[in-house]
Amino acid sequence: MKTLREYLEWAKEKKVAIGHFNVSDSEGFKAVVESARELSVPVVIGVSEKERSFLGVAEIRVLVQVEKDKGQPVFLNADHTYSVEASKEAIDAKFDSVIIDGAEKPFFENVMMTKEVVNYARTNAPEMLVEGELGFIGSGSMFRDEIPEGVSEDTQTTPEDAVKFIEETGVDLFAPSVGNIHGLVRSGEPKLNIERIKDIAKVVNIPLVLHGASGNTDEEVLEAINAGIRMVHINTELRIAYKEGIKKGMSSDELAPYKFMAEGVAEMKKVVTAKLKLFNKL
Ligand SMILES: [Zn+2]
Repeated sequence: MKTLREYLEWAKEKKVAIGHFNVSDSEGFKAVVESARELSVPVVIGVSEKERSFLGVAEIRVLVQVEKDKGQPVFLNADHTYSVEASKEAIDAKFDSVIIDGAEKPFFENVMMTKEVVNYARTNAPEMLVEGELGFIGSGSMFRDEIPEGVSEDTQTTPEDAVKFIEETGVDLFAPSVGNIHGLVRSGEPKLNIERIKDIAKVVNIPLVLHGASGNTDEEVLEAINAGIRMVHINTELRIAYKEGIKKGMSSDELAPYKFMAEGVAEMKKVVTAKLKLFNKL
């Protein structure tokens, strides 16, 4: 089976993006894996620090390995990891990738912590990819009444800073701030800065990752992929679908969890399938 690095090359050649979906439990995992299997596309399972402490670092690692052993390209990413320590834990657990998120820190501090994680990964898990983030896009997959404080067009990542950051840290994947926001803004998301993505893609030779794509329109996301995005993160929209599905399941007299929870899985699958079709141009 191809590695995640090889699938990112494949995505570049095909001008598509790999879907990254966050899960908190085995139902979410099931929804993502089944959707990807039905479409025969690779997929990345994301677990943030809180999601993986709920699921268990070793437990989610095993769930993913079971799928890999069956030959399905399912990869595991330690999403938004805010400390070097927690990043090392994911590296020791042999995830496929880790995101060290120093985006809220000053440039130099971000570089230093990212570099430390890259060095640790190279020594302890050379196959693993490390993603760095530059430019704050808010944190948390939630409904928002307004754009989070500290996020504006002025804080979007410049091509010059992107090049400098990548050269100094040696990251394998790069997440810029290009009008994307974590969570879902009720008044409507700001538009993605497609020109900025193009400008960054021109000068950067590693895959670009788009976070916070919940709430952006299909057209915008497709434009972003055509501009050079190779992985797209979805979380908030999945959480909304899951909760709606479970509510439906709970409203009946059904007692068997595998019946009432199945409604949550079914609703999540609808979102994952639609996104995978969009990202993979199917
Ligand atoms: Zn994110």
